[in-house]
Amino acid sequence: MKRRSLTLGFIATTVGLAFAQPQPNKQTPESTEIWDPVPRVVTPGNLAPATGSGVTAPSDAVVLFDGKNLDNWVSDKDGQSAAKWTVADGAFTVARGTGDIRTKQEFGDYQLHIEFRSPSQVAGNGQGRGNSGIFMQGLYELQVLDSYDNRTYSNGQAGSIYKQSMPLVNASRKPGEWQTYDVVYTAPRFNKDGLMIHPPYITVIHNGVLVQNHTAIRGTTPFVGLPEVKAHGKGPIKLQDHGNPVSFRNVWIREL
Ligand code: MG
Repeated sequence: MKRRSLTLGFIATTVGLAFAQPQPNKQTPESTEIWDPVPRVVTPGNLAPATGSGVTAPSDAVVLFDGKNLDNWVSDKDGQSAAKWTVADGAFTVARGTGDIRTKQEFGDYQLHIEFRSPSQVAGNGQGRGNSGIFMQGLYELQVLDSYDNRTYSNGQAGSIYKQSMPLVNASRKPGEWQTYDVVYTAPRFNKDGLMIHPPYITVIHNGVLVQNHTAIRGTTPFVGLPEVKAHGKGPIKLQDHGNPVSFRNVWIREL
């Protein structure tokens, strides 16, 4: 069956190539989707409470959200105006259409802790379900998605480096439950000519389970197209407004 579909695919591709207008390097969103293999499901332990609060940051952390306000955040549109997401019950939630938000402060190498919650009311599927994202230095997306029993391309599910690196396993909790990401991030280094000496590296622990192990990030993480490398210095933590009411809490960072 597989051989047959491969053969048919080959024929279709060949026929397509024979009749299509030449469109070198034409990229579609599907071009960078990888569907197989499917990361196996791991049920996380009770490392952090799935409901309720009471979680706190270590003493030397920069607290980016303390449950009360978004004073440490701004709109990503202009980097100045107030972040317009909703704050309630010790958490903040994407206010659809208000756009991405980012930290006022910029960071290089760090340890980041952030908790997120997919909407308990399941709506949509695939990439349309509980989608948000955490961008390292404003450029490299660690995907936030409701990946509990929700198939999408593997390099776009929760714990993926979007369109680049699928998670080692799927450690997602149920919609409506709080989940944790613990991230160790090493910024890329560039020489004085802007050439990359080493790429960004990221390690991600999702609900206490390793999903990215010192993964080299190949460049930016666009919806369409291939990663791009551009020289940069420190950058903010950016959170994505993908139109879904994803909530966050207990966000703190330790610069390394
Ligand atoms: Mg996203």
